[in-house]
Amino acid sequence: MNVDLHCHSNVSDGVLAPAALAQYAHQAGVNAWALTDHDEVGGIARARAAATDVRMRFVPGVEISITWAGHTVHIVGLQIDAGNAALVDGLAATRSGRDARGREISDQLAKVGIPGAYEGALKFVDNPDLMSRTHFARYLVECGACANLPEVFRKYLVEGKPGYVPHRWASLTQAVGWIQGAGGVAVIAHPGRYKLGLVGEGALFDEFKQLGGTAIEVVTGSHSPDQYQVYAEQARRYGFLASRGTDFHAPGESRVDFAALPPLPGNVTPVWHDWF
Ligand code: AMP
Ligand code: MN
Ligand code: MN
Ligand code: MN
Repeated sequence: MNVDLHCHSNVSDGVLAPAALAQYAHQAGVNAWALTDHDEVGGIARARAAATDVRMRFVPGVEISITWAGHTVHIVGLQIDAGNAALVDGLAATRSGRDARGREISDQLAKVGIPGAYEGALKFVDNPDLMSRTHFARYLVECGACANLPEVFRKYLVEGKPGYVPHRWASLTQAVGWIQGAGGVAVIAHPGRYKLGLVGEGALFDEFKQLGGTAIEVVTGSHSPDQYQVYAEQARRYGFLASRGTDFHAPGESRVDFAALPPLPGNVTPVWHDWF
């Protein structure tokens, strides 16, 4: 069974609408699928309906941006009730600073010779509440400042580069609380992407475990094949279940497409073990 529990529609920084994304995942062979837009659950009803139409199992999800020990970390919530009031309110608060941040990103880019980035990025935004660095990245490619998205993130938009605006997101406690309050399970997204060091990563895992966190992503489009084994080991060590998902954003743009992601290693328990 191909279970894919992490991807983005145009309700956040993906390019396909929720229904088109469901069809795309299904055609690529996915049998069980979660939509996990950044800080937004507005696509879930459409995604569920389209998944049901093609008889693909559907898991309602979200990817919450948090600030932990000064680092931006992403917490995926799965099997959430997308109508839960505390979750909905918490996500709205988390999203609320994005537009102002976008204007600041644009001001910084203007200072290094890239004018009009706010308006440029906005052309790629489908949900005005959810302006993401990805939308700026698409504009920087379109205007010829960079050749591709990875180059944009190397040269701009990341810590230490022009176009990076520090931002305070939700806390780990809030994110896990919102997810659990909505009946869901919390999963640390792509742990291999954070530059926490071994001690920092251990502290994050310990705190997440104490709060009742359930799983970590092991096989994700954001990990290298080496990291699949590293995080399978970490899942065993800390007693986490393992999740899997492409982190798909757009055809031809994401590092791994739905059909190309390997299965979970055999030595972990899938987060979906009692779902399907
Ligand atoms: P934001 O939530 O606005 O800070 O944007 C974060 C998003 O930027 C992530 O969800 C990815 O979609 C994208 N992103 C971050 N780093 C990279 C990278 N190195 N290459 C491509 N996309 C990236
Ligand atoms: Mn994204
Ligand atoms: Mn993420
Ligand atoms: Mn993601």
